[in-house]
Amino acid sequence: MAYQTGEKQYHVDCDIAAVGYGLVPNNELAGLLGCETRDGYVVVDNDQRSTVANLFAAGEITGIGGVEKSMIEGEIAGVCCTGQSADHCWRHRNRGRQFAKLLEKSFRLSPALKKLATDYTILCHCEDVTLGEVNQFNDWRLAKLQRRIGMGPCQGRICGPTFSFLCGNGTPGAQPLSARPPVFATHLEHLIPSALSGK
Ligand SMILES: Cc1cc2nc3c(=O)[nH]c(=O)nc-3n(C[C@H](O)[C@H](O)[C@H](O)COP(=O)(O)OP(=O)(O)OC[C@H]3O[C@@H](n4cnc5c(N)ncnc54)[C@H](O)[C@@H]3O)c2cc1C
Repeated sequence: MAYQTGEKQYHVDCDIAAVGYGLVPNNELAGLLGCETRDGYVVVDNDQRSTVANLFAAGEITGIGGVEKSMIEGEIAGVCCTGQSADHCWRHRNRGRQFAKLLEKSFRLSPALKKLATDYTILCHCEDVTLGEVNQFNDWRLAKLQRRIGMGPCQGRICGPTFSFLCGNGTPGAQPLSARPPVFATHLEHLIPSALSGK
């Protein structure tokens, strides 16, 4: 495998290379509840309030910054939703947010990655949709309707961020949420246990 950091190229002998291309939060529930998102993250105010009344959000769905940020945001959400002061939390949360910004900057996908995929590269493994079939669209919904990308069992969880990076606005996870219940693929027996048990 060959890879490049800055100007320097590296070669590593290996059988299989597993490569990660960024982190994307599971924000489907927030989307279903009508929370506004920006660049794939739930928009919150200083008290962790989302744009939906009485609905607070904390952790990775508001920005990926590790466990410390998630926990302090959770504390702020808990304290503020019960009408108490979260003054003791701001410094800690600001540090977490700064770390999240640093993480985002350090791991931002390089535009050079766009050259890796060809027209024949499969973006949607559930429905076998190639980049060549969808790169004329810059709109996720349109591409879904026209080419069935994101219509399989994973419902775009894998190909959605990739599409967004390659064909959309360049930010993985930034396409509007279109989750429907059940959000994750599940067994019918979990949905209708009473029907299966005959009770
Ligand atoms: C392998 C790995 C190693 C890590 N190591 C570190 C580390 O060393 N240091 C560090 O700071 N951070 C680390 N992290 C990141 C850290 O785990 C996260 O920042 C933290 O857990 C985020 O907390 P959260 O509450 O936002 O999300 P989570 O802890 O992911 O909790 C979200 C919960 O919501 C549930 N959920 C999601 N969608 C649905 C749905 N539709 N219906 C029902 N439930 C749902 C999930 O099952 C999960 O239980 C690591 C993460 C991973 C994956």
